[in-house]
Formats: sequence, structure tokens, C-alpha cells
Amino acid sequence: MRFDVLTLFPEMFRGPLDASILGRARQAGLIDIVIHDIRDYAEDRHRTADDYPYGGGAGMVLKPGPVFRLVDSLCPGWEKAPRGTGSKIPGLWLVYLTPQGRPLDQATARRLAGVDRLVLLAGHYEGTDERIREALVDEELSIGDYVLTGGEIPAMVVIDAVARLIPGVLGQEVSPLEESFTEGLLEYPHYTRPADFRGLRVPEVLLSGNHERVRRWRRKESIRRTLERRPELLLQARLTREDHQLLRELLEESGAGSVSAEAQAGPAAPDGDEEGRKAGSGPDQAC
Ligand code: SAM
Repeated sequence: MRFDVLTLFPEMFRGPLDASILGRARQAGLIDIVIHDIRDYAEDRHRTADDYPYGGGAGMVLKPGPVFRLVDSLCPGWEKAPRGTGSKIPGLWLVYLTPQGRPLDQATARRLAGVDRLVLLAGHYEGTDERIREALVDEELSIGDYVLTGGEIPAMVVIDAVARLIPGVLGQEVSPLEESFTEGLLEYPHYTRPADFRGLRVPEVLLSGNHERVRRWRRKESIRRTLERRPELLLQARLTREDHQLLRELLEESGAGSVSAEAQAGPAAPDGDEEGRKAGSGPDQAC
């Protein structure tokens, strides 16, 4: 998969994308990340890429010219290409990072991991000229309800969240199948050696060697965490009959046993209903 980042500050990307899992994935050729300096596509000797907003007001706005010319270089002749139902520019899916976008979540990351070429536009200052959004942008994403100085860190967040879902990127280090949000639940707690650290003991079940007990304990702790920290996620999660039983046990343990588990979460899916757990189909694949 290839990522192209359009930015006024390419130097911000040095380091974070070179280390650890992403660095290794790049070296192994599993992902390709190309950082483009929008100023390289300015036409004046000062390399001007932003300007004052029409109508007045504070701040600077990203000019359309340099961004359009950069996109022209990524996909020559795109304006004359036939428009399908997919992306605005054939061959790529262009995401603008903005606090006005839809919040990034794990399902979106999974969907974007199915795109061949993802282009991320990082705004700065006041943001971009609206014509960029109208003509070039396929999707707008936010990384949270707060305002940052620029879209560079959000672009890195998207790259990290998406790249780690590409087969081979994580290797054996982390399992994307069991972690938080994969099944609409938060992940269970982890422990490692020693079994007794300053009197703080690892739960006995994890030392039992009984795989079935460990599996059930983990599932129950996953539901417990979600119930305690993000109860709204349980409304969307596809819970099996066993999950409903575990939820009932948790509610009984907490003294809220009279509340029906079904009232706390949606209807039960049959145990092992993998189909129901799969994310929805992805966006139109960029051509
Ligand atoms: N004036 C804009 C508004 O009110 O929506 C905010 C501009 S912000 C200071 C500058 C740039 O940072 C944005 O163009 C966007 O690319 C990026 N940015 C800031 N906060 C963000 C967030 N929560 N998610 C994604 N991008 C963000």
C-alpha cells in the first residue's frame, strides 16, 4: 500500500515514520510512504502556498494552485478522466485531515487499509481553500474534537492506524484480531513475568494452563472493561450467547443483576458468528 502525504512541513515526518514497526514495514516494502512538499508546487520565487482569506479575518489559507498542481503530478490528466462512482481522482483516495471531519475509528482504519493508494492532505493555519475540498477531497477525517496547529500529526495517526492492519506489518508482535475495538469491545488486561511482583499477583487463572478457562476469563474481562469504561460500545457490539451470560455474571457481581443483560446490549448473535463481527465492506476502491 502506498501513502502520499501533502504538507507544508515535510520535516515533521522525519523520525516517527522511520522507527519501530512502521520503519521495518517500509524497509520490507510492505508500505511506501512518500512525503510531498506543497511549496514545491508554488509558482513564485518565495514558494508561496498560502494567502490571506477573502472577506478578511485572521490566519492564512492554503491556496488551491499548489495543491492542484501537486495532484496533477500524482495523476496527470485526472480532470479529463471519466468519473465513476469512486474517488474524485482516479487511482487514489484523497483524505483531508480536519477537525470538521468524521472522527477516525477502527472501522474506518480497516476500510482505508483496503485502499491501494491513500493520499493525506494536511492543512495548516486556518485550513484550505474550499475549492480544494470540493474538487479533490474524497473524505474528511478528524482525530478528535480538539483543534491542532496542523494536519501533520493527524496524518501520522491515520498512517499508523491503517498501516498496522496491512497483512505482514505487525508480524508476531501484536495480534490485530484480539485488540480493542476489533470486536467492538475493549481488550482484556495483560500480565507478564514475574507472577508475583512486590506482592501484586497475576490472576491465578492465567497460570492454570487451562486454555478454556483463560479464554473465558479474557472474554469476561474484555466485557467488564467495556462496561466500565465505554458502555456505549456494548450497544453496537455483536455479543454471543456466552457474552450475554458473562455480562449477566458481571451485573450480578456488581449487584445490578436485576437489570437484564439484553437491556444493556443488543440482541445475541449465535456463538462463533464471525460473519456478524466483520466490518462493513470498504469504500469504493481507488482505481
Ligand atoms: N480553522 C479550522 C477550523 O476551525 O475547522 C481549523 C484549522 S487547524 C488550526 C489547522 C489544520 O490542522 C487543519 O486544516 C487540519 O488539517 C489540522 N487539524 C487540526 N485539528 C485537527 C483534528 N482534530 N483532526 C484532524 N486534523 C486537524
